[in-house]
Amino acid sequence: MGAKAGYIYLRGEYRYLSIIMQKAIADAYARGFIGKNIFGSGKDFDVYWHGGAGAYEVGEESALMESLEGKRGIPRIRPPFPAVVGLWGGPTVINNAETLAAVPAILMMGGQKYADLGTPRNGGTRLFCLSGNLEKPGVYELPMGYNLKKMIYEVGGGIQGGRGLKAVVPGGSSTPVLRADEIDIAMDFDSVMKAGSMLGSGGVVVLDDRTCIVKFALRTIKFYQHESCGWCIPCREGTDWLKKTLTRFHAGGGIKKDIDNIKYLADNMLGRTFCPLGDAAAMPTIAFVEKFRKEFEDHLEGRPCPFAEHGTISQLPVLA
Ligand code: SF4
Repeated sequence: MGAKAGYIYLRGEYRYLSIIMQKAIADAYARGFIGKNIFGSGKDFDVYWHGGAGAYEVGEESALMESLEGKRGIPRIRPPFPAVVGLWGGPTVINNAETLAAVPAILMMGGQKYADLGTPRNGGTRLFCLSGNLEKPGVYELPMGYNLKKMIYEVGGGIQGGRGLKAVVPGGSSTPVLRADEIDIAMDFDSVMKAGSMLGSGGVVVLDDRTCIVKFALRTIKFYQHESCGWCIPCREGTDWLKKTLTRFHAGGGIKKDIDNIKYLADNMLGRTFCPLGDAAAMPTIAFVEKFRKEFEDHLEGRPCPFAEHGTISQLPVLA
């Protein structure tokens, strides 16, 4: 491409990885993979790592560029797109680190062979982050189209303590939840979409039968309310209202109308925000209410949470 510099942007929360990153960059310079006149080619390429200040929003490419330029990490209006006017106003290519990490395998194996590891329309491999109530949580590289049930019970070692499975969030906290009877699916973009959710970031969150879905919905919306950059009203106000309603609801102060109101609020955020964070907050909320309505009803009339003895919100699985 003729690019002379590359930036690796690390979210503030992941700064602890910067030591590994800095060593990797230093090693690459020492071996001549990057820097001046790479392997006598006459080409120069410098790589820098940059630590963010801690914002989910800067995962959005234009907000990331704003942050990298030292400004507040909020999205840019497009067009122009980054390939035309990007970082510092120059043409810019932005990729997820996971995408770039696949390049060596593609070069070594050949494109077709790499693609053949996955399914016909969803080639290659994916990094799946298995978290939640699993015996062996972790990040696993698996072929696209790997069966979700097998992923949980064989790769992830099954549910902690041999307990029952209640639900799975298949692609990161923004994706609609699947019930336990919906997980016999291939983990590729098309199949997960057909099952009513999304493959998203490949962050699989497994919830055992002791999990309170209302509490989990609250935990999820707390995250998005905290991370909303505040620019658009449906996202800023919607996430805040949802957090307040779910907090009251889970504490036993809910009324029947709240259940439909939660869904109504989330429905009205969908497609009405500047960046996908508004949708990311709304989509899982809608699915929690639609698929686990009974659990919401079980919290009504001042009844205590039926799962209260199983820990506080902070003890719920960490969201991917
Ligand atoms: S959707 Fe939310 S995070 Fe995205 S620009 Fe609007 S307020 Fe900011």
